[in-house]
Amino acid sequence: MSSLTYLKKYELPPLPYNVDALEPYISKDIIDVHYNGHHKGYVNGANSFVDRVNKVLKGEISAGQYDIQGLLRGLVFNINGHKLHSLYWQNMAPAGKGGGKPGGAIGDLIEKQYGSFEKFKALFTEAANSLPGTGWTVLYYEVENDNLQIMTFENHFQNHIAELPILLILDEFEHAYYLQYKNKRADYVNNWWNLVNWDFADKKLQQVMKK
Ligand code: MN
Repeated sequence: MSSLTYLKKYELPPLPYNVDALEPYISKDIIDVHYNGHHKGYVNGANSFVDRVNKVLKGEISAGQYDIQGLLRGLVFNINGHKLHSLYWQNMAPAGKGGGKPGGAIGDLIEKQYGSFEKFKALFTEAANSLPGTGWTVLYYEVENDNLQIMTFENHFQNHIAELPILLILDEFEHAYYLQYKNKRADYVNNWWNLVNWDFADKKLQQVMKK
């Protein structure tokens, strides 16, 4: 059976800008550690769990030698770590080129649902600031109701692979801000708004709306 591929591996995508492109809002040191350390670590972690699952499929690890829930937790945690970071990078633009108010379909939908961009921004910020521990705050497009929804993910969305149409994503793990902001997470959240790549968010929304 030459078409048997087993589970496929993941690759670290290129960072869409230089490591210092987000300064002064997010420092070069943070992006370096975050991308080359943490994101790469999730890709390597996902691939090592893929190897383990494939060994199970090939009969190289037998029943009793692994815990399936543990295997799935490790797999999904690392896959989501990889996917969510890929989105997080793309969802920011170099300082001076991002931020402001969104236009396009996303700007219209935000105004229609939330009343104004300012009200939406206040609610998203409140959600982000209320996240108790480690995780993400996102805006996603709900296809069923043509609806935007704000959500927080604890850790990496537990045991579900994050393939929702995420339009806006904020990393709130300490590694995303601590080197520069220490315990002042709300300052990081405020400054992150200056980096949002609304063009990316709008293109993504238009792609999923067409379906
Ligand atoms: Mn992160």
